[in-house]
Amino acid sequence: MTMALVQHNTLDLIGNTPLVLLKGPSEAAGCEIWGKCEFANPGASVKDRAALWIIRDAEVRGELKPGGTVVEGTAGNTGIGIALVANARGYKTVIVMPDNQSKEKMDTLRALGAELVLVPPTKFADPAHFVHTSRRLAEETEGAVWANQFDNVANRKAHIESTAPEIWQQLEGRIDGFTCAAGTGGTIAGVGLGLKAFDENVRIALTDPHGAALYSYYATGELKAEGTSVAEGIGQGRITANLEGAPIDTQFRISDEAGLEWVARLLREEGLCLGLSSGINVAGAIELGKQLVAEGRQDVRVATILCDTGFRYLSTLYNAEWLRAKDLPVFPWLA
Ligand code: PMP
Repeated sequence: MTMALVQHNTLDLIGNTPLVLLKGPSEAAGCEIWGKCEFANPGASVKDRAALWIIRDAEVRGELKPGGTVVEGTAGNTGIGIALVANARGYKTVIVMPDNQSKEKMDTLRALGAELVLVPPTKFADPAHFVHTSRRLAEETEGAVWANQFDNVANRKAHIESTAPEIWQQLEGRIDGFTCAAGTGGTIAGVGLGLKAFDENVRIALTDPHGAALYSYYATGELKAEGTSVAEGIGQGRITANLEGAPIDTQFRISDEAGLEWVARLLREEGLCLGLSSGINVAGAIELGKQLVAEGRQDVRVATILCDTGFRYLSTLYNAEWLRAKDLPVFPWLA
């Protein structure tokens, strides 16, 4: 146990999250599997880092002035992170989201003080899509900036400058592999670039959910999706600006069932309540650990991201009816 940190600014509570050794996953992999506790950020997800870096970058570039507005098209964790950081810096937040998102998400964003603009769900090519709507709104609003998390590389810079050095220091410079899934790709690309800058031999693996096109892209060069996933926040179909030049050495494809099994085990055996992207990441980290062990490496250490809190998914992942309706296994204690 180390002493808790003292901070003089609430924004300094973002990052510097603990790294925890995961017992069950380590046993399953035959090596050490470490989880970066991003649910410990003020907004309870990894996206607080991107929100902080994107807003600071807009300030430094002189685009965001006192009393200004941050606009983003997102339904989830990024909106929560932006709303919190914007509040702390005195900006307004406008979030554009499709009107088929869960009521909890809308309630959460409204509770944090964000203005919600709801649009009908439509395909990305449609100018009415929530991402394009958010860009137009930012352009039309006086003193507003568009966060543009997918193609604004301030997102991955957050992980190059904070997440990667933290993991490196926490493991005292002894790490063999890192893996996580991609939404915007900011985390995998940023942590990958950051860790490779310390040691180019750290193996960086993409862990892709079903229904995303990146596993195929890194394996064969072709963007091609297979299957489906209910995991929120991950699963990408294109090479975003944040993913460009990401140092991906290898890739795994992980099913929702495999991810859910680790969500259940981490909760029941280790007392961690997480979202599905974390379970998928842990399953990927076990695959990466096994691969490194099979090559004869000794004392292998792999790190991954525990992206957000499971409390955000009480009506979905932790709800028996919802799981049954999706044909997914119901956690035994909920059945
Ligand atoms: N997990 C969750 C729950 C998320 O909200 C996100 C953000 N989209 C990710 C994982 C992936 O992070 P990134 O956008 O950095 O790829």
